[in-house]
Amino acid sequence: MAPGSVVRMGTLLARHAQVMVTMDGAEVEDGAIFARDGWIETVGATADLPDSADEVVDLHGHVVLPGLVNTHHHLYQTLTRVVPGAQDAGLFQWLRTLYPIWARMTPDHVRVATTVGLAELALSGCTTVFDHQYLWPNGSKVDDQIEGADPVGLRFHVSRGSMSLGESDGGLPPDSIVEKPGSILEDCQRVIQSYHQAERGAMTRVVLAPCSPFSVTTDLMRDTAALARDQGITMHTHLAETADEEEFCVTRFERRPVEHMEDLGWAGADVWYAHAVHVAPDEITRMGDAGTGVAHCPTSNMRLASGLAPVGGYLAAGVRVGLGVDGSASNDSSNMLAEVRQTLLLNRLAVAPGVGAGAQMTARDALKLATVGGAAVLGRDDIGRLAPGMAADFIAIDLDRIGFAGAMHDPVAAVVLCSPLGVDHSWVGGRRVVEDRRLVGADVGSLVAEHNHLAGSLLG
Ligand SMILES: [Zn+2]
Repeated sequence: MAPGSVVRMGTLLARHAQVMVTMDGAEVEDGAIFARDGWIETVGATADLPDSADEVVDLHGHVVLPGLVNTHHHLYQTLTRVVPGAQDAGLFQWLRTLYPIWARMTPDHVRVATTVGLAELALSGCTTVFDHQYLWPNGSKVDDQIEGADPVGLRFHVSRGSMSLGESDGGLPPDSIVEKPGSILEDCQRVIQSYHQAERGAMTRVVLAPCSPFSVTTDLMRDTAALARDQGITMHTHLAETADEEEFCVTRFERRPVEHMEDLGWAGADVWYAHAVHVAPDEITRMGDAGTGVAHCPTSNMRLASGLAPVGGYLAAGVRVGLGVDGSASNDSSNMLAEVRQTLLLNRLAVAPGVGAGAQMTARDALKLATVGGAAVLGRDDIGRLAPGMAADFIAIDLDRIGFAGAMHDPVAAVVLCSPLGVDHSWVGGRRVVEDRRLVGADVGSLVAEHNHLAGSLLG
């Protein structure tokens, strides 16, 4: 087995789940999973599976689902939740308020924020995370994130993000936090060589992720795409998030955001955009034809009053859609189950009378986006479903809680429609990440104390 692949050796039997949702179309009562060396060998009714294993877990009274996949985040922003000056601002003013604060981050801030954000995600059912960090002040590096991610044990798609268009060149960020394109591309190559795992079961993958059209030069966008394709790496950026951004693109490039990115080679099965709110019907069609993906971030879009993404249109056009909690400064949490619920609620509003048209999103639709959809967006064929040959990444939620009282008519829908709670157990590659609502790999109490100290030092 390659280094960094799933590491739990031996057999695992998780059985007697009240209902197990495979995301392959089946909801199995008294369900069970049998895994060997981190890979699922069999799923089905408990009675039909082996009756012993190296480790046997009884999930009586639990709903079992594939682990949730987060397709857009900025873990460092857990340091700047609810900053007073950024609480009520739209995207551009929100960024102008936070850029100088983020500019003070050190490698310690990046490392600890990565651990804290991933811990919160794990406790809320996430097992695979993409993070989009695009500024690297005071010597901080991707390596700090890799170190911070290690104790939590989630699959981590880390990005070498970037900003190269400062204020003096017409961009939004201050010049002090943008980098030179040459050094960005050089570090991208270093990070790919150091950390990217292409194989199935990979625990770490690298994504190239320039920040946005208003903070990155067109040359760097183009060169990043060329490097990503040369190395077989996926690529990601923020796009069409707000009306401000659309105005910026039309004024500067005489192109709408999606058109601008198409010009630069940023369309295809190896590309996904965060947000994609302000997108026209013909652009949706082209995104579907090209295979471009979208990270839908409903909480952030509401929090910053950015707008309502055309998710129904994306799904109808064959666009790959996953969910993202987005950075914790615009959410202000890293709770994946909460994001599934927000997805359902916001997209119900999207078809309300006077707003739009189309079919209502169901609880199961929202769970599908968070699992199968997220796996497709990240370009993975080894997660998102519970089936033979898939990684043993799954979560279990105990139904015996006050928040679910009275909801046993449909426990699967209850996970989405009732108030979001954490998960009781989770496994990544057959290895336990959450046990009895507690993180296995890190002490949350001391993490929170250290994180609060570091957050205080940024705003000091
Ligand atoms: Zn974002």
